[in-house]
Amino acid sequence: MPITDNVDPAELAKFSDLAHRWWDPESEFRPLHQINPLRLGWIDGLVPLAGKRVLDVGCGGGILADAMARKGAEVLGIDLATKSLKVAQLHALEAQTEGVSYQEISAEALAAERPGNFDVVTCMEMLEHVPDASSIVKACATLVKPGGHVFFSTINRNPKAFLFAIVGAEYVLNLLPRGTHEYARLLKPSELAVHCRANGLTLEQTRGMQYNPLTRHYWLDADTSVNYMLATTRT
Ligand code: SAH
Repeated sequence: MPITDNVDPAELAKFSDLAHRWWDPESEFRPLHQINPLRLGWIDGLVPLAGKRVLDVGCGGGILADAMARKGAEVLGIDLATKSLKVAQLHALEAQTEGVSYQEISAEALAAERPGNFDVVTCMEMLEHVPDASSIVKACATLVKPGGHVFFSTINRNPKAFLFAIVGAEYVLNLLPRGTHEYARLLKPSELAVHCRANGLTLEQTRGMQYNPLTRHYWLDADTSVNYMLATTRT
């Protein structure tokens, strides 16, 4: 059992049910595969990953964790969905990825065990699936070394985000299974920034992520109205 109350079993079940498809680039996880080079390039451009100790919180099947290890980082991926972690581990074996390992533990429990242990912490597309995002932000801030960096990505909360990220992605384009995202759990950049500042994380950069359904193309720009990422530094 996870040593945290900050988990929604229904959310974990959603991901566990799909776990065997994490590495199928045409599956429900296609959007994550498609945005992966963009977010990896953004992170690595701000903080070169080679030689860094990196923690990936809510790593799922390891799409980002594996890619960061391939950039030369020593990566630990954590999640609470057992099946996803097994898939991540199996993929690392099959792909012979060096420098990546996985553990079933909550961010809060790892923060109690290993504070200040990582140069970089990433927490992507995960905050919108937990009951208390601020508790995850706090754990990430505890886990990173002073001077280290924490990266978040999530979905904004406003009528446009509802239309694009929920109605569009789940009901019109069928990019994601219906019920993947719940409007009330989406987080405005200003709210995430408040959680960051409260935990000693200084905001460095904000990027928006866009998708054109006609060309099926993703790109990064300054527009954070739907999907966005934050880069922070621990003071
Ligand atoms: N970060 C990965 C996966 C995002 S999907 C990526 O961007 O590629 C969201 C992930 O969050 C799932 O793997 C799910 O199991 C995980 N998750 C949900 N609640 C969690 C919790 N309380 N603790 C840890 N992981 C959680």
